Amino acid sequence: MLDWVLDLLFPPKCPACGRYTERRDTWCDSCFAGLVKPHRLPLDAEMYSLFDGGVWALGVYEAGLRDMLRQLKYDGKKGLLPGLHRYMAAGLRQLPLAAGNGRQEGLRCNKSRADGDVSRENVLAVPVPLHPDRLKERGFNQSELLFREPMAALEIPLQSALVRCRATTPQFGLTAAERSRNLQGAFALADGGEIAGKRVIIVDDIMTTGTTLIECARVLKSAGTVSVMGIVAASGRK
Ligand SMILES: [Zn+2]
Repeated sequence: MLDWVLDLLFPPKCPACGRYTERRDTWCDSCFAGLVKPHRLPLDAEMYSLFDGGVWALGVYEAGLRDMLRQLKYDGKKGLLPGLHRYMAAGLRQLPLAAGNGRQEGLRCNKSRADGDVSRENVLAVPVPLHPDRLKERGFNQSELLFREPMAALEIPLQSALVRCRATTPQFGLTAAERSRNLQGAFALADGGEIAGKRVIIVDDIMTTGTTLIECARVLKSAGTVSVMGIVAASGRK
């Protein structure tokens, strides 16, 4: 159907408050302003030691944001991407990695190393990979879809440097120890993944317990990355 006919019959509404908006599948300005809430997540000792650049969420996993992320992931509603990219870009701009905003302070390596200049060319975003079977079934990796474009706008390339080498049972309902065991050895470096000497940002759609991020960070660290940072589109942790 022609867009203008569609707009006439079903005027676009904000998914959070229901007010009419100019664009379809995105929030009104006041809801949008409230959604973009980049924050550094509190980490336990294990995560703290792996993530020198910290782990950040661009907003809180609730209400309209949660619905849009779920619809993208489980219903493949890619029409939501422009609205989600607008949200991602606004959040990423506020993080210390954005140009003119603290020069990637969050990606500093060991404080004792005074190498000063953190050049953008050594920064790489790496999405948490899906198992090939899951990827085939879903048709896309939602973390890659969410992050590739907003990261490219910041001149940070996204590379699928990790692979999921074995299928794992869902993490839901497992204890922390079981989750960790479940994911041990689940990730590996992809063929041709060049990450030695890089400052890597692991990106994912959401973070719940952090076990997935931990396992990914372990693989990257052992392959010689200089520093690791985590960014998720949203987290239930405020
Ligand atoms: Zn609204």
